[in-house]
This record gives sequence, structure tokens and C-alpha cells, in this order.
Amino acid sequence: MSQSSPEPAMPVSRPTPDTAEWFERIDREELTVPRCGTCGHHFLYPRMCCPRCGSREVALVPASGRGTIASFVLNNRPPPGFEGQTPYAIALVDLEEGPRMMAQVRGVDPAEVTVDLPVRAVFEPRGERRVVQFEVVGNGQEESS
Ligand SMILES: [Zn+2]
Repeated sequence: MSQSSPEPAMPVSRPTPDTAEWFERIDREELTVPRCGTCGHHFLYPRMCCPRCGSREVALVPASGRGTIASFVLNNRPPPGFEGQTPYAIALVDLEEGPRMMAQVRGVDPAEVTVDLPVRAVFEPRGERRVVQFEVVGNGQEESS
């Protein structure tokens, strides 16, 4: 074991050519979703072609950041970098625009996380990058950060 080993880094996504611009916008704290210019379908994750109609007329459009929890799990076994955070909730969130996105839900007692709970996207700094997470909306604690 090295004595100078750094703390385990919190993971960040590794962009692909298809997802690079989407992640760059997240780094600027801007959540977008790809929209097909041919059929109007919104989808995630970003791809060059619309998964519904195959069109290449795909553009990133602003997302509201609002959504509801479709499903979730509570993680009690921290991966490297998450020690001290457990238990925490990882949710599938249905965005208002339609696509479903997986992210951590923070700032709430995990025991209070339920399906259909309204949430909004927040951006957690991790080094030079930003990671999308969700906070519960309402709950008597608006604008906590
Ligand atoms: Zn389409």
C-alpha cells in the first residue's frame, strides 16, 4: 500500500463521440436532451440517430431538469469514493421531456424516497466535471443550496 495514495476519486462519465457535447453542457451546468427533428422524439443517452425513426436530424434542446422518480434502489455498500455516504438512493428519473435517466438522489433521507416523488436536477462538482444528481422538490426545503 502506498502511503501517498490519493483518496479514491469520485467517478465521472467518460464521454464518447455521441455523448461528448451532452457532457460538456452538463459541465456548464446545463441539462439538455437530444430531440429528433424529424419525429420529435426525445431520448437518452445521446446518439447520432433517433432510436425511433433513424433520422440523423438530432439536436440537443434544453431540459427543465424536473422529473419524477420511476424506480430506485438504496445502496448500502459504498463503492470507492462513496464511503460515508451510504445508504443512498439511486433512482431512475422520468424527465418532463420523456427520457429516463439514472442518477443519485441527494439531500433527502433515503427512507423517504418513493416512486412518483418529484425531483429536480442539480449539478455536483467533481474536479473539472459536473455530475447530474437529483434533489427532492418541495419537502418544505426549497432552494437548499
Ligand atoms: Zn425520430
